[in-house]
Amino acid sequence: MTDDKPHILLVEDEIHLARGICFNLEEEGHRVSHFETAERAMATLEIEHFDLVILDVMLPGMDGFQACRAIRALDPRVPILLLTARSEDADRVEGLENGADDYLTKPFNLVEFLLRVKGMLRRSSWYRPEPVEEGYSFGDNEVFLLSYRARTAQGEVDLTEMEVRVLSVFFRKEGQAIHRSDLLQSVWGYSSDTETRTLDNFIVRLRKYFEPDPSHPIHFQTVRAVGYRFSREGK
Ligand code: CA
Repeated sequence: MTDDKPHILLVEDEIHLARGICFNLEEEGHRVSHFETAERAMATLEIEHFDLVILDVMLPGMDGFQACRAIRALDPRVPILLLTARSEDADRVEGLENGADDYLTKPFNLVEFLLRVKGMLRRSSWYRPEPVEEGYSFGDNEVFLLSYRARTAQGEVDLTEMEVRVLSVFFRKEGQAIHRSDLLQSVWGYSSDTETRTLDNFIVRLRKYFEPDPSHPIHFQTVRAVGYRFSREGK
């Protein structure tokens, strides 16, 4: 029997919370595998494919940041949603630097959580309304969205699912200012009024890969009070 339900890996040591998450995700038609430690989750990740990883930061043994790096080594693409216990900037930035794609601060709102999961599970093939040329070049970079790879001045980079989605929006709308709420809604599935720095941290990541000088970006430009603009020529 084939089972095409999205398969989600949940790593959470608070049993009560984990049960609630599993219940709600299963109600939404997802399949969930739950582990209380990252070590046990990693053993499963080595043999099974998942469509999304939901990872608590504060875990006994290997913590969520270490797990993030280990997961990225095994699967560079899979979307990772971090659950952080504190709203501190350092946690959020560290998580996104270690390869997570988004975070939610506990305690979180169930509706927002389910929206985020839904957004992150959307397949990139459904998401891309028109194909962007494969081997898209700008500056010293060449990006292969379909194979989740990029050649940069620093070498080859494996792109995550969410990086590919953001890049495909930028490439399609090259030269246009894109509102941050449009990016957050279309790529991550945020409701429009959510306050977050996820996008900004993500742009920092893209600039590190692709900009000749990340602190003076020419391709991924900030548009004040609006959002961001991608410039292929770098002007
Ligand atoms: Ca915990």
